[in-house]
Amino acid sequence: MGLQRHDEVILLLGAPGAGKGTQARFLAATLGVPMIASGDLLREHRQRGDDLGRAAQEFMDRGDLVPDELVVDMIVHRLDAPDATAGALLDGFPRNVAQADALEARLIERGGAIRVAVYVDVPSDVLIERLAGRWMCRGCQASFHEVFNPPAVAGVCTTCGGELYQRPDDKREVVANRVAVYLRDTLPVVERYERKGILRRIDGNQSIETVKRALREAVDVEEAITA
Ligand SMILES: [Zn+2]
Repeated sequence: MGLQRHDEVILLLGAPGAGKGTQARFLAATLGVPMIASGDLLREHRQRGDDLGRAAQEFMDRGDLVPDELVVDMIVHRLDAPDATAGALLDGFPRNVAQADALEARLIERGGAIRVAVYVDVPSDVLIERLAGRWMCRGCQASFHEVFNPPAVAGVCTTCGGELYQRPDDKREVVANRVAVYLRDTLPVVERYERKGILRRIDGNQSIETVKRALREAVDVEEAITA
Protein backbone atom coordinates (compact mmCIF):
# COMPACT_ATOMS: atom_id res chain seq x y z
CA MET A 1 0.00 0.00 0.00
CA GLY A 2 1.37 3.39 -0.94
CA LEU A 3 0.92 6.73 0.73
CA GLN A 4 -2.24 8.71 0.11
CA ARG A 5 -1.15 12.28 -0.44
CA HIS A 6 1.36 15.10 -0.09
CA ASP A 7 2.70 15.70 3.40
CA GLU A 8 2.18 12.19 4.63
CA VAL A 9 5.62 10.90 5.29
CA ILE A 10 7.18 7.67 6.38
CA LEU A 11 10.32 7.95 8.51
CA LEU A 12 13.13 5.45 8.31
CA LEU A 13 15.41 5.57 11.34
CA GLY A 14 18.47 3.51 12.11
CA ALA A 15 21.97 3.93 13.50
CA PRO A 16 25.08 4.11 11.33
CA GLY A 17 25.81 0.51 10.31
CA ALA A 18 22.16 -0.55 10.49
CA GLY A 19 22.06 -0.92 6.70
CA LYS A 20 19.54 1.86 6.39
CA GLY A 21 20.81 3.24 3.07
CA THR A 22 20.11 0.05 1.14
CA GLN A 23 16.77 -0.41 2.86
CA ALA A 24 15.68 3.20 2.27
CA ARG A 25 16.15 2.83 -1.49
CA PHE A 26 14.23 -0.43 -1.43
CA LEU A 27 11.39 0.96 0.67
CA ALA A 28 11.00 4.13 -1.42
CA ALA A 29 10.85 2.04 -4.60
CA THR A 30 8.31 -0.32 -3.02
CA LEU A 31 6.09 2.58 -2.01
CA GLY A 32 6.62 4.48 -5.26
CA VAL A 33 7.61 7.63 -3.40
CA PRO A 34 10.83 9.67 -3.41
CA MET A 35 13.46 9.15 -0.76
CA ILE A 36 14.46 12.36 0.99
CA ALA A 37 17.75 12.68 2.86
CA SER A 38 18.45 15.99 4.57
CA GLY A 39 22.15 15.90 3.66
CA ASP A 40 21.29 15.58 -0.06
CA LEU A 41 18.78 18.44 0.13
CA LEU A 42 21.31 20.70 1.81
CA ARG A 43 23.90 19.94 -0.87
CA GLU A 44 21.43 20.49 -3.72
CA HIS A 45 20.17 23.84 -2.39
CA ARG A 46 23.72 25.09 -1.82
CA GLN A 47 24.76 24.02 -5.31
CA ARG A 48 21.75 25.77 -6.85
CA GLY A 49 22.41 28.83 -4.70
CA ASP A 50 18.69 29.44 -4.17
CA ASP A 51 17.21 31.24 -1.14
CA LEU A 52 17.24 28.18 1.13
CA GLY A 53 20.74 27.25 -0.03
CA ARG A 54 22.12 30.75 0.58
CA ALA A 55 20.49 30.90 4.00
CA ALA A 56 22.11 27.59 4.93
CA GLN A 57 25.46 28.72 3.53
CA GLU A 58 25.47 31.79 5.79
CA PHE A 59 25.24 29.61 8.87
CA MET A 60 27.90 27.25 7.57
CA ASP A 61 30.25 30.13 6.69
CA ARG A 62 30.03 31.26 10.30
CA GLY A 63 30.83 27.71 11.43
CA ASP A 64 27.32 27.28 12.82
CA LEU A 65 24.98 24.35 12.41
CA VAL A 66 22.16 24.82 9.92
CA PRO A 67 19.04 25.37 12.09
CA ASP A 68 16.51 22.54 12.20
CA GLU A 69 13.76 24.87 10.93
CA LEU A 70 15.75 25.59 7.78
CA VAL A 71 16.35 21.90 7.13
CA VAL A 72 12.64 21.26 7.65
CA ASP A 73 11.88 24.08 5.18
CA MET A 74 13.95 22.19 2.61
CA ILE A 75 12.07 18.97 3.35
CA VAL A 76 8.68 20.67 3.04
CA HIS A 77 9.78 22.37 -0.19
CA ARG A 78 10.74 18.93 -1.51
CA LEU A 79 7.31 17.56 -0.54
CA ASP A 80 5.77 20.07 -2.95
CA ALA A 81 7.54 18.46 -5.92
CA PRO A 82 5.33 16.57 -8.40
CA ASP A 83 6.91 13.20 -7.60
CA ALA A 84 5.84 13.53 -3.94
CA THR A 85 2.08 13.71 -4.54
CA ALA A 86 1.81 10.37 -2.75
CA GLY A 87 4.12 11.41 0.08
CA ALA A 88 7.75 10.62 0.68
CA LEU A 89 10.18 8.55 2.67
CA LEU A 90 12.44 10.54 4.99
CA ASP A 91 15.74 8.75 5.30
CA GLY A 92 17.38 9.28 8.69
CA PHE A 93 15.37 12.31 9.76
CA PRO A 94 14.59 13.44 12.43
CA ARG A 95 17.78 12.57 14.21
CA ASN A 96 16.91 14.19 17.53
CA VAL A 97 13.90 15.48 19.46
CA ALA A 98 14.40 19.11 18.36
CA GLN A 99 14.27 18.06 14.70
CA ALA A 100 11.20 15.94 15.40
CA ASP A 101 9.48 18.98 16.95
CA ALA A 102 10.36 21.17 13.96
CA LEU A 103 9.21 18.57 11.43
CA GLU A 104 5.93 17.82 13.19
CA ALA A 105 5.10 21.51 13.59
CA ARG A 106 5.48 22.14 9.84
CA LEU A 107 3.61 18.99 8.82
CA ILE A 108 0.68 19.85 11.10
CA GLU A 109 0.61 23.39 9.66
CA ARG A 110 0.13 21.84 6.24
CA GLY A 111 -2.42 19.27 7.35
CA GLY A 112 0.16 16.54 6.96
CA ALA A 113 1.21 13.69 9.18
CA ILE A 114 3.87 11.18 9.96
CA ARG A 115 2.21 8.02 8.77
CA VAL A 116 4.62 5.61 10.32
CA ALA A 117 8.17 5.62 11.73
CA VAL A 118 10.23 2.55 11.01
CA TYR A 119 13.22 1.87 13.24
CA VAL A 120 15.82 -0.59 12.01
CA ASP A 121 17.04 -1.94 15.32
CA VAL A 122 20.53 -3.42 15.52
CA PRO A 123 22.38 -4.05 18.82
CA SER A 124 25.28 -1.66 19.52
CA ASP A 125 27.92 -4.39 19.54
CA VAL A 126 26.79 -5.57 16.10
CA LEU A 127 26.83 -2.00 14.73
CA ILE A 128 30.35 -1.52 16.05
CA GLU A 129 31.53 -4.83 14.61
CA ARG A 130 30.08 -3.98 11.19
CA LEU A 131 31.55 -0.48 11.10
CA ALA A 132 34.85 -0.97 12.86
CA GLY A 133 36.08 -4.04 11.00
CA ARG A 134 36.88 -2.18 7.79
CA TRP A 135 40.46 -2.09 6.46
CA MET A 136 41.68 -0.31 3.31
CA CYS A 137 44.66 -1.03 1.05
CA ARG A 138 47.29 1.74 0.80
CA GLY A 139 48.15 0.56 -2.70
CA CYS A 140 44.91 -0.11 -4.60
CA GLN A 141 42.29 1.21 -2.14
CA ALA A 142 40.58 -2.20 -1.98
CA SER A 143 38.35 -2.56 1.06
CA PHE A 144 38.24 -5.56 3.42
CA HIS A 145 36.32 -6.45 6.54
CA GLU A 146 37.72 -8.48 9.44
CA VAL A 147 34.59 -10.63 9.67
CA PHE A 148 32.58 -10.30 6.45
CA ASN A 149 35.35 -10.03 3.84
CA PRO A 150 38.72 -10.81 5.43
CA PRO A 151 41.98 -10.69 3.44
CA ALA A 152 43.76 -14.04 2.95
CA VAL A 153 46.62 -12.80 5.16
CA ALA A 154 45.89 -10.35 7.99
CA GLY A 155 47.11 -6.84 7.21
CA VAL A 156 47.96 -7.65 3.57
CA CYS A 157 45.86 -6.78 0.50
CA THR A 158 44.71 -9.94 -1.28
CA THR A 159 44.54 -8.05 -4.59
CA CYS A 160 47.91 -6.26 -4.76
CA GLY A 161 49.89 -7.33 -1.68
CA GLY A 162 49.77 -3.77 -0.33
CA GLU A 163 49.61 -2.82 3.34
CA LEU A 164 46.16 -2.56 4.93
CA TYR A 165 45.29 0.30 7.27
CA GLN A 166 42.24 1.59 9.12
CA ARG A 167 40.88 5.03 8.34
CA PRO A 168 40.40 7.10 11.52
CA ASP A 169 36.61 6.94 11.06
CA ASP A 170 36.75 3.13 10.99
CA LYS A 171 38.69 2.76 14.24
CA ARG A 172 36.79 1.01 17.02
CA GLU A 173 36.82 3.89 19.55
CA VAL A 174 35.62 6.39 16.95
CA VAL A 175 32.90 4.05 15.70
CA ALA A 176 31.75 3.21 19.23
CA ASN A 177 31.43 6.91 20.00
CA ARG A 178 29.50 7.61 16.77
CA VAL A 179 27.04 4.80 17.61
CA ALA A 180 26.67 6.02 21.21
CA VAL A 181 25.95 9.59 20.08
CA TYR A 182 23.36 8.38 17.58
CA LEU A 183 21.55 6.27 20.16
CA ARG A 184 21.66 9.04 22.77
CA ASP A 185 20.10 11.55 20.37
CA THR A 186 17.75 9.34 18.38
CA LEU A 187 16.36 6.76 20.82
CA PRO A 188 14.17 9.47 22.44
CA VAL A 189 12.68 10.06 18.96
CA VAL A 190 12.05 6.33 18.56
CA GLU A 191 10.38 6.23 21.98
CA ARG A 192 8.23 9.25 21.12
CA TYR A 193 6.77 7.49 18.08
CA GLU A 194 6.37 4.31 20.07
CA ARG A 195 4.20 6.22 22.56
CA LYS A 196 2.18 7.67 19.67
CA GLY A 197 1.59 4.17 18.38
CA ILE A 198 3.15 4.81 14.95
CA LEU A 199 6.48 3.04 15.46
CA ARG A 200 7.34 -0.15 13.62
CA ARG A 201 10.47 -1.74 15.05
CA ILE A 202 12.34 -3.98 12.61
CA ASP A 203 15.02 -6.43 13.71
CA GLY A 204 17.93 -5.26 11.55
CA ASN A 205 20.21 -8.06 12.69
CA GLN A 206 18.93 -10.48 10.02
CA SER A 207 19.65 -11.11 6.36
CA ILE A 208 18.96 -8.21 3.98
CA GLU A 209 16.10 -10.19 2.40
CA THR A 210 14.44 -10.85 5.77
CA VAL A 211 14.76 -7.19 6.73
CA LYS A 212 13.19 -6.20 3.38
CA ARG A 213 10.23 -8.49 4.01
CA ALA A 214 9.74 -7.02 7.49
CA LEU A 215 9.91 -3.48 6.05
CA ARG A 216 7.23 -4.25 3.49
CA GLU A 217 4.95 -5.51 6.23
CA ALA A 218 5.78 -2.54 8.48
CA VAL A 219 4.60 0.07 5.97
CA ASP A 220 1.34 -1.69 5.20
CA VAL A 221 -0.53 0.47 7.68
CA GLU A 222 -4.25 1.17 7.80
CA GLU A 223 -4.32 4.84 8.64
CA ALA A 224 -2.10 7.80 9.29
CA ILE A 225 -1.88 9.15 12.78
CA THR A 226 -1.33 12.88 13.01
CA ALA A 227 1.98 13.59 14.68
ZN1 LIG B 1 45.68 -3.49 -2.67
